[in-house]
Amino acid sequence: MGCQKTEQLQKWIEKVSSYTEKGKVATYIPALGEADPNTLAIAIYEGPNQCFSAGNVSETFTLQSISKVLTLALALMDKGEDFVFQKVGMEPTGDPFNSISKLETSVPSKPLNPMINAGALAVTNLLPGQTNDEKLSRLIGFIQKLTGNHDITYNERVAQSEFETADLNRSLAYFMKQHGVIEGDVNELLALYTKQCAIELNCHDLAKIGWVLANKGIDPLSGEIIVPFDVARIVKTFMVTCGMYNASGEFAIKVGIPAKSGVSGGILGSVPHGMGIGIYGPALDEKGNSIAGIKLLELLAKEMKLSIF
Ligand code: GLU
Repeated sequence: MGCQKTEQLQKWIEKVSSYTEKGKVATYIPALGEADPNTLAIAIYEGPNQCFSAGNVSETFTLQSISKVLTLALALMDKGEDFVFQKVGMEPTGDPFNSISKLETSVPSKPLNPMINAGALAVTNLLPGQTNDEKLSRLIGFIQKLTGNHDITYNERVAQSEFETADLNRSLAYFMKQHGVIEGDVNELLALYTKQCAIELNCHDLAKIGWVLANKGIDPLSGEIIVPFDVARIVKTFMVTCGMYNASGEFAIKVGIPAKSGVSGGILGSVPHGMGIGIYGPALDEKGNSIAGIKLLELLAKEMKLSIF
């Protein structure tokens, strides 16, 4: 299904686009540093034949941390709640997404939640499959089903660029291995995690995922249950409490919808009762969120009364 360009969305993009100049693209993963900081695009699904967009919505970008929502859903579907939450907690943290400090002080020693890097690594360690190839193809297959886009794959260059520079994530994984949170070879886990983060899609695809989650895990187009009700509920709750890094509290007040961002500049939004939002704006604020993307969501939430609170 194609999305229709709308003047209203275009006007809102123009209103906030100057914020892109105040942000910076992520460079700690060298390949992400090549993104055009001025880009800003949005797609919104509201119903069958109701998809609206503005900006260059066919431009692709990598999921980065947005993948954490999808690996969590897949791990919960495969291993169940009790097992997954033995390895990772449910509490938000006021620390940056890649912080190591709470790992040492939390009792029991497990990452606080699945949306920070330590927690996401623990969840990736639980993905179903025997080999990395099998685990990755299960994840990509799941994302293809959610989006209806069977061309989705991962960007090898971005994955490799992160793999070569992921020493902080590697140290989180070694720490967790020592404490029995994760099992197996750390570099194998990093290889899978960096590929998961490098899965590439566009704003339409992201909006479609948000739409399925908003519809309680049922694909509104086919009627198929892609994510069980309780799994959709859990991942959306994490999106509210921890989805926007250590800016989640402010985001809940100013926007008030389940959302997850990634350092590529993507934001996935899911508005209960049927709206999915996909945003791409690679210039980030100091917490790692798309700077203009957040402003666009603030405007949208105000104009369209989207807050769930
Ligand atoms: N691949 C990134 C990392 O682990 C994801 C971070 C993010 O998007 O927040 O650093």
